[in-house]
Amino acid sequence: MSLYKTEAIVLKYYELKEADKIIVLYTRQHGKVQAVANGARKTKSRLAGSVELFTYSDFLLYQGKSLSTISQTEIINSFASLRDDLFKMAYASYVVEVVNEFTVDEEKNEPLFALLLATLYMLDRGEELELATRFFELRLLNLLGYRPQLDACVDCDLDLAKIDKVKFSSKLGGVVCADCALEDQYAMRINKGTVATMERLLEIDYKKLDRLKVPESTRQQLAKILPNYLQSIIEKKLKSLDFLKTLTMTN
Ligand SMILES: [Zn+2]
Repeated sequence: MSLYKTEAIVLKYYELKEADKIIVLYTRQHGKVQAVANGARKTKSRLAGSVELFTYSDFLLYQGKSLSTISQTEIINSFASLRDDLFKMAYASYVVEVVNEFTVDEEKNEPLFALLLATLYMLDRGEELELATRFFELRLLNLLGYRPQLDACVDCDLDLAKIDKVKFSSKLGGVVCADCALEDQYAMRINKGTVATMERLLEIDYKKLDRLKVPESTRQQLAKILPNYLQSIIEKKLKSLDFLKTLTMTN
């Protein structure tokens, strides 16, 4: 067994026998890692705080044959507001579920770690929860090789400027013209303004996100199109999406 230190964010946990938990971590140095937290469910456990959902800590881990074991932790940011505020929690739950579903164990991706961390900081500050999440989705798609094609029909290459009724096809991974949209019955209407916002979100520095003006109609289209595209890539439903939809519909 070897001991190693890494920064990590808690994506998920499972209860194990007795007071133990398995923690799914996204680490800066090793990608996704599953680690046992012995005694973490005891109230006086020294690990209890750092194995809470969304918490960002320095971890000292023992690497075992299949699972690692958490030896020591030091919290860098507990992101308590992401667990206390219902809206923040809904968005943050979606973000960590997406990272968990799109990654496999022990595959390092430092830009993805940085994106996850930056997104949690944005959600924690509470500015533009929705836009921060759209930014996260597009940048994750880009980092993992699923950047949607937005400048021309993904199927016939017709320039976007020449397309009258633009649709977005999750199946084909980009915008489609009316003819090519016939190949995907689930292709969704998208305004050119929404396409332009997606382009902006793919390029913008997250620190300038609050300067981006996004109309409600664009927000609504993105809130349908992007989660749908993500789910079509992993070919399964994202569980946190229902909760998020329920919350955002009533407001
Ligand atoms: Zn086409």
